[in-house]
Amino acid sequence: MADNGKNLEHAKDLGRIDVKNQELEKMVDQHGANIYWERSIFCSCLDTYTGQPDFTCPSCKGKGYFYFGGTQTKALVYSINAKKDQYPIGMLDVGTSYMTCHSYDRVAFRDRITFLDMKSIYSQVVTFEGDPEGEVLKYKPLDVITVRNLGQEIPKTAYTIAGNRIKFQDGLFNPNDRFSVLMEILPTYVVIDIPHELRGTYIKFGYMTEQWMELPKQYMIKREDLMPSSPDTPPSMG
Ligand SMILES: [Zn+2]
Repeated sequence: MADNGKNLEHAKDLGRIDVKNQELEKMVDQHGANIYWERSIFCSCLDTYTGQPDFTCPSCKGKGYFYFGGTQTKALVYSINAKKDQYPIGMLDVGTSYMTCHSYDRVAFRDRITFLDMKSIYSQVVTFEGDPEGEVLKYKPLDVITVRNLGQEIPKTAYTIAGNRIKFQDGLFNPNDRFSVLMEILPTYVVIDIPHELRGTYIKFGYMTEQWMELPKQYMIKREDLMPSSPDTPPSMG
């Protein structure tokens, strides 16, 4: 009965409870938010010896990686607040959440996630360059709340928005003048940790032999504009 001092009798005829992987996938489908998922890839301008990107690189703008592709799928999101006391107050958890994706969406470290059903507020300072097409904003605004030069509001009639560009009436600004914009955007996050990438389980129910099943995976994500080195390239989605 005893085996190394442990009583294993209780485990002999124990009913097996399998994790219902399809149920978890269904949860993501039924309750998840719509996301636009872009993959990240290292840029070939990276020096393989020093690991440094070329700061004049036209494809990554010196970041060392860029985004490509783009797929619409679903993700469940949770606030990180439940675990707040594990982190220094007000530090790590600013703009950070957890997200669970389908097992087959192989989201990776540094990938970019845009939440299509939600809105967030974003503020940016832009240097006027006088581009005839308009000045480039980091994100495509859903709505521009205000544009200001120091405290002075620029009237809405003095500019037009097209995509991620803002174009002012002639003569309002000179090159190198700065203005700030407050706008509504789609919330954009970057994957900063992959704690459950290896999540899976053996399942026997309904199968002749045990099968290895991957489970929906959890990722830690952070607002892109709150990243320590916030990238300055606009998202590729139009
Ligand atoms: Zn590059």
